[in-house]
Amino acid sequence: MSSPDGTEPLIEVKDMTKVYGEGPASVQALKGVSLTIRRGEFLAIMGPSGSGKSTFMHLLGCLDHPSSGSYRLAGQEVSGLTRDQLAMVRGRQIGFVFQSFNLLSRTSARENVELPMLYAGVAREARDARARSILEQVGLAERMDHKPNELSGGQQQRVAIARALANEAPLLMADEPTGNLDSASSVEIMTLFQHLNRENGITVVVVTHANEIAAWSGRIVTFRDGLIVDDRPAKEGSAA
Ligand code: ADP
Ligand code: MG
Repeated sequence: MSSPDGTEPLIEVKDMTKVYGEGPASVQALKGVSLTIRRGEFLAIMGPSGSGKSTFMHLLGCLDHPSSGSYRLAGQEVSGLTRDQLAMVRGRQIGFVFQSFNLLSRTSARENVELPMLYAGVAREARDARARSILEQVGLAERMDHKPNELSGGQQQRVAIARALANEAPLLMADEPTGNLDSASSVEIMTLFQHLNRENGITVVVVTHANEIAAWSGRIVTFRDGLIVDDRPAKEGSAA
């Protein structure tokens, strides 16, 4: 289904709920969320702690099933898929970036970036060439044979972004990607996301509770108590 402006939605969520646990101790983390994200958007998800941001990201990222509701990703209904099917969709469609980088500590930047390609069955030479090219793209040409503990936080996050790009997924999802970074590194990382969004057409969804981070996006969606309470364009040029 295409939207009135002709841009195909990448994500269509309707009435999504998520309940953790059962009985009196259960928590309704999402209470009925609907959201459409078009290809090429750069979205920030905001809201106080406990409002459901990470839960929503997990569901968008096909890491977990919703309790009810529908989720179409790139035209495919994914809410009813098995664990294995979800893993396949994830591998093709989604790159993840985490607050704590989640790199393998004993392997070089290049090997970290190669890993998703190894899982996807890409041949060694193609893996090597692509890892080098992406690491150059994120500005780490000189550092690709270093291990994570030999890199700054900002550099480690750039390795993580390179890894997220390894399988050419159209969607990049990041949960508090600058939460462990100083402000100069945060600007570098947000500049990189903006570049990937504008120049490579990658759809970017970033969870943050910092206004100065959200200001890099094009659209800010705010959660509260498991519901979307606000959805508006980010102010033009507010990050610059
Ligand atoms: P946010 O990322 O906005 O801080 P979360 O999505 O992590 O919010 O949490 C939303 C609600 O769901 C909170 O009440 C939280 O305690 C609860 N919650 C999150 N994950 C789990 C889980 N795995 N088991 C039980 N409750 C959870
Ligand atoms: Mg969270």
